[in-house]
Amino acid sequence: MRKFTDKRLLVATHNAGKLAEMRALLAPYGVEIVGAAEQGLSEPVETEDSFLGNARIKAQAAVEATGLPVLADDSGISVDALNGAPGVYTADWAETGNGRDFGMAMAKTWEALEARQAPEPRIAQFRCTLVLMWPDGHEEVFEGVLPGRVVWPPRGAEGHGYDPIFMPDGHGITLGEMAPEMKNRLSHRALAVENMIGGCFE
Ligand code: IMP
Repeated sequence: MRKFTDKRLLVATHNAGKLAEMRALLAPYGVEIVGAAEQGLSEPVETEDSFLGNARIKAQAAVEATGLPVLADDSGISVDALNGAPGVYTADWAETGNGRDFGMAMAKTWEALEARQAPEPRIAQFRCTLVLMWPDGHEEVFEGVLPGRVVWPPRGAEGHGYDPIFMPDGHGITLGEMAPEMKNRLSHRALAVENMIGGCFE
């Protein structure tokens, strides 16, 4: 596995929260984290049908635009009884044509489970794939998986997206009820970053 020895790393996200999270996690390794928005990058269309494919699209576009090494991610929730849906379409399920409505997306998820009379527990995973890509095209890929179940009704006002209907294994509360520091220690993104640090930064 290739070690990361550059001084700067572009994080290909327009999400300020993800950027801050990466900055904090990589601070001990003396890497300057550069954001996609501050580089004036546009967001490429995610046309692939896998988390890896879509993370790679974002990484490639940012490498081509800047010549910097890039970290890109793609994530979502996969529900076993829905054959892995919404999966790569997690954000699309929230699309209203006038912004995203995650209350609607959570209701759609639960209704799909009810329509199939899926047995309890309704097993699901949050998944995150990271692609670390160098300017010469070399890439290293890391995954983080947070196992749990989908519950109803939605609970808690913390977090974002589908957090209020996801109860991670080993916990009696949803991610929506969890303090952010706790979620950020156990999340699929934290696990993927941990794998990347172990592989390329230590
Ligand atoms: P993306 O990786 O930023 O494209 O996010 C994909 C979708 O997955 C987003 O719409 C998020 O709402 C959802 N998602 C990803 N991670 C989480 C999470 O930790 N909690 C809740 N929803 C998430």
